[in-house]
Amino acid sequence: MAKHQFQAEIGQLLKLMTHSLYSNKEVFIRELVSNASDALDKFNYLSLTDETFKNEAWKAQINIGIDKEDGSLTISDNGIGMNEEDLMNHLGTIAKSGTKSFIESLTGDAKKDSNLIGQFGVGFYSVFMVADKVDVITKKAGAEQAYKFSTDGTGEFEITPVTKESQGTIIYITLKEDEKEFLDTWRVKEVVKKYSNHIAYPIMLNYADEESSGEGESKETEKVKKSEQINAASALWTLSKSELKKEDYVEFYKTISHGDEEPLAYLHNKVEGAQEFTTLFYIPKTAPFDLYRADYQPGVKLYVKRVFITDDEKELLPSYLRFVKGIIDSEDLPLNVSREILQENRILANIRQSSVKKILLEIKKLQGEEADIFTEQYNRVIKEGIFTDHTNKETLLEIVRYKSSSQEGLVSLDEYISRGNSEKKEIYYIIGKDEKVLRNSPLLEAYKKAEIEVLVMDDEEVDSIVTPMIGSFKAWTLKDITTIEAPDSKTEEEKEEISKEYHSLTERIKEVLGDEVKNVKVSTRLTSSASCVVKDSSDPMAGMAHLFVQMGQKVPETPLILEINPEHMMIKKMDALQDKELFGDVAWILLDSAKLSEGMEPKDKALFAQRVANLAGKAL
Ligand code: ADP
Repeated sequence: MAKHQFQAEIGQLLKLMTHSLYSNKEVFIRELVSNASDALDKFNYLSLTDETFKNEAWKAQINIGIDKEDGSLTISDNGIGMNEEDLMNHLGTIAKSGTKSFIESLTGDAKKDSNLIGQFGVGFYSVFMVADKVDVITKKAGAEQAYKFSTDGTGEFEITPVTKESQGTIIYITLKEDEKEFLDTWRVKEVVKKYSNHIAYPIMLNYADEESSGEGESKETEKVKKSEQINAASALWTLSKSELKKEDYVEFYKTISHGDEEPLAYLHNKVEGAQEFTTLFYIPKTAPFDLYRADYQPGVKLYVKRVFITDDEKELLPSYLRFVKGIIDSEDLPLNVSREILQENRILANIRQSSVKKILLEIKKLQGEEADIFTEQYNRVIKEGIFTDHTNKETLLEIVRYKSSSQEGLVSLDEYISRGNSEKKEIYYIIGKDEKVLRNSPLLEAYKKAEIEVLVMDDEEVDSIVTPMIGSFKAWTLKDITTIEAPDSKTEEEKEEISKEYHSLTERIKEVLGDEVKNVKVSTRLTSSASCVVKDSSDPMAGMAHLFVQMGQKVPETPLILEINPEHMMIKKMDALQDKELFGDVAWILLDSAKLSEGMEPKDKALFAQRVANLAGKAL
């Protein structure tokens, strides 16, 4: 007999469960039945592909037993089972990625936490919402020895060797005094019907019923053992759409997502013809915890002719769709398909291609509040898709949303086009870290004045890589306003004239700033600010950030051009300024403050502050 301590995270999770922060206790049945079904899936696969496990007589089954006298509920299966090591690794620790951040995000506020648990997925430990004590008696397929894992959920568990005839797992639950409702056959049937009706294996309910015989005085009641199947036992995705209602899809989603939230959307398709396959996909309302982790758990399971193959294959969908949950069931793939074969398989490539098209179409159909939820949760991964999925770039560009200079909220590129200048066919954008800085950027002044909409892209990390390689959308060219001439009403001659007039001033400023700027120019884009910085569009590196990222290198900085506003009082006076030191200070202030308004840093912050103080002192 060996006593063990639960991993710290489980300890915390158990505490949450036992203090029943989670309002929806009945889901423990769903979770245990789902584990049983997974265990049956695993053995089913072995029995069909591995000689050692071929067993004609094996019939997959889940049994739920009610024992009123004993106050216990048992949920058992004849699936793959667990050995000692499995018990330690699977029930004594949580390997799931994101568990730690999940535990850390708990607030102690029962309502919020209960919601979080719903999103995280509860799993085996949910049983402690209703149990005083749990014994897991299990024997792994092909093993000699069976084991018992016992715990009262307070931080320790015990593993003991026991005898058990057949393979599989029995979960023996001693219910808490006030959770005896789960000894009621009607209640258990109701919960199973609700969440596990479309688990592919039969679920039998076993209980003792009282039956009376005889009449009047001699009437006697006796206990009779009853056993009945309480689910439909047909995998949901194998049924035809017309047989299924929205509730069926939603409850099935709760089973596969181990959560309590309804999906944002679902799509169920049967494809027939040269290739046959069925797909059932769900888009979660809340992005998975591990969306931005390299070791994310893929959400789609692969089946071949209803036999479960894998839930750990990232190639089933492109990685930017890693938030999608669901099932792919192929009629054409071989059962014992290896991972290497899977990744190069034409059949799978076809399934994947058709699945992506359907999923994107479904996303495109989302409207109103649902579209907003989607954007809030997944806009960033859609941008990832624009970058990586060239086949579906156009559709992804119809889905992505951006902030805009002309209105609150987010806009689509189609909306932008509908308002834009259809002769010029240009989509303007500006990229930076901070929305406020971008909205107040001097570079936007001329566009505001000319009432031209500019997309405000404030997810710099992603936008600066993805946007420059978009090129065009529906024949409209995307233009970074920091690299192009601003819209204005001046003619070329007028511009020439002004630039001549200020030639000596721009030269003097250039001399002071040296290598810090590539050039100093008279601006036609400014109305109220004295200066701004723009990127040099003729620089060969401009717009190539994505290549550097692909090569895993640091993106080189594009050289800057300082533009000055000839209408500004400061510039006018500067032209006449002879004091060399003061001129130098003002020139640096023009550059540093222009950088600041674009969210960049001055070259030397302390010196910048000193120069501003100097200037203010002189002005006073
Ligand atoms: P999850 O099911 O999300 O992996 P759980 O906490 O519910 O998380 O289960 C942890 C692991 O314990 C499972 O992944 C599985 O390996 C193992 N397990 C649980 N129940 C059974 C069972 N009835 N038969 C075999 N293995 C099981």
